[in-house]
Amino acid sequence: MSITTAAYAVPSPTDPLAPWTFDRRDPNPSDVLIDILFCGVCHSDLHQARDEWGGSTYPMVPGHEIIGTVLAVGSEVTKWSVGQTVGVGVFVDSCRNCENCKAGLEQYCDGGISGTYNGVEQDKVTPTYGGYSTKITVDQNYVVSIPEGIPLEGAAPLLCAGITTYSPLMHWKVGPDTRVAVVGLGGLGHMGVKFAKALGASVTVISHSPGKKEDSARLGADDFIATNDPDAFKNNAKRFDFILNTISADHEYNDYLGLLALDGVMCLVGLPNPTTVAAFPLVGRRRSLAGSMIGGIAETQEMLNFCAEKGISSDVEVIEMSYINEAYERMLKSDVRYRFVIDLASLKS
Ligand code: NAP
Ligand code: ZN
Ligand code: ZN
Repeated sequence: MSITTAAYAVPSPTDPLAPWTFDRRDPNPSDVLIDILFCGVCHSDLHQARDEWGGSTYPMVPGHEIIGTVLAVGSEVTKWSVGQTVGVGVFVDSCRNCENCKAGLEQYCDGGISGTYNGVEQDKVTPTYGGYSTKITVDQNYVVSIPEGIPLEGAAPLLCAGITTYSPLMHWKVGPDTRVAVVGLGGLGHMGVKFAKALGASVTVISHSPGKKEDSARLGADDFIATNDPDAFKNNAKRFDFILNTISADHEYNDYLGLLALDGVMCLVGLPNPTTVAAFPLVGRRRSLAGSMIGGIAETQEMLNFCAEKGISSDVEVIEMSYINEAYERMLKSDVRYRFVIDLASLKS
């Protein structure tokens, strides 16, 4: 038997999302079946739906910022019980045996993670389908608990935008002595600002949208740099210890590297097309260019607990499932404050 599931899917890179129905597997002994309540809309959904990274498979059901309620559990499930509020993020399985998996860094699994969508199960054959759907069946080890106190719609984006910004800030030990710049105030960027502030850093937003200045202050940033000012890069040269670069579109990394102080690090989390990196901006101040991908399951739970403790959640615009194609167009125009979140009730009625 299998579970009939309503969804929105992309049939090809050039088509819009449209209603689709498919079957989820019945829970295996170590699986939980989740009734999806909310799913965030990540820019990675759009990149993959339109095959901007190559290798996309169709039909694709995007969505990897999933919040839901446990509907059923397999016979060997010990971690979860029916009725609990849980989350599922960017991956739903990994090899579990490599050094990275054993270290809780499943996102860097040597055998390859099973992406929540546009991926395959560990059998490397069965396609995975994401959270723009009413239900999902997931192994219990790839599920996290949503602490009480976080509004559920504001919790959904934590499963990708939250952990993707929290993890590098922790890895590079951002704290009260760190001068941080968050580049790009979108879904990831606004979470980066909240986390960096909560960690005590001084935070500057660098944005190509001058109209986001007031929001940037409201979110906690100490300063705002609009990149449409022709002197922005010159006037702020050598100013930051750590830059979290969340820009989704093609841009000149070398300009931003010049904003780093001695030994500064620019960590890329945004995933635009390949571009040229020059040696001189790195060499001149012993700067580093780095990258970071989401976070492991244990760190995701740590981040959620941190959010509950500090009263952090995402600023969201809740939408109906049928609004998704407009939401994509608005996201491309950087016109979202600051994450679209789909209310899956709109697909159940
Ligand atoms: P988003 O909400 O669309 O935000 C991206 C931001 O980038 C925009 O709000 C905008 O900020 C800035 N931007 C957009 N176009 C720009 C341009 N032409 N020039 C300069 N800045 C521009 O996207 P998101 O969901 O935060 O995702 C951001 C990127 O991270 C995507 O590429 C996504 O695939 C990637 N991602 C990576 C990981 C990972 O594990 N590394 C995880 C999730 C997402 P301003 O308006 O403030 O300029
Ligand atoms: Zn994402
Ligand atoms: Zn592994």
